[in-house]
Amino acid sequence: MAFEKTLKSPVTTNVLRPPGAVNELLFPSKCIRCGRCVEVCPYGSIRPLDIHAGIFTGTPLIHVTDIPCYLCMKCVEVCPTGTLRPITQQETKMGLAVINKHACITWNGELALCRTCYNICPFKETAIKLDELRPVVIDKYCTGCGLCVHGCQVTQENGKKAINVEPIYAYRRRAIANE
Ligand code: SF4
Ligand code: SF4
Ligand code: SF4
Repeated sequence: MAFEKTLKSPVTTNVLRPPGAVNELLFPSKCIRCGRCVEVCPYGSIRPLDIHAGIFTGTPLIHVTDIPCYLCMKCVEVCPTGTLRPITQQETKMGLAVINKHACITWNGELALCRTCYNICPFKETAIKLDELRPVVIDKYCTGCGLCVHGCQVTQENGKKAINVEPIYAYRRRAIANE
């Protein structure tokens, strides 16, 4: 059981790899834990995993509820191993923002005026739109930057917000399962 834990990816809802990351299955063998991405990030968005993380120890993660990714793209420029591949802002797909319509106070009718996620998104009207004044994520264009999660004022009992970023590999798995 303890051995299994050392092999379990730390990537989960709102805990993501930086932009341009290779497939999570390859990440721990490709990343040399040089820390350049951590050092270069001007926002302190990237943190290395501590020593209790098994084969993932020292690899970089972004906890978007604490500090999201502002898509400056500096980390992808400095990664020496291609673990973070050089991509553009628009090509970034760290995950997919998903709105919980029961928790969202605009969707559930508690307070129809909140549109923080829509207003804060760097790709407003592209990655997130309004449907009769309620926010809707456009999957194709969402980068998973987490700015919407960070800005959302609703925190559920389980610690998640009313909008959360699901990791891209989980999203892909779901998409494949639905094909
Ligand atoms: S793109 Fe910029 S803000 Fe985002 S994790 Fe990389 S260095 Fe930090
Ligand atoms: S810069 Fe690249 S190789 Fe270095 S720690 Fe970050 S992801 Fe790993
Ligand atoms: S919807 Fe959220 S995660 Fe997606 S691009 Fe906009 S702010 Fe970033």
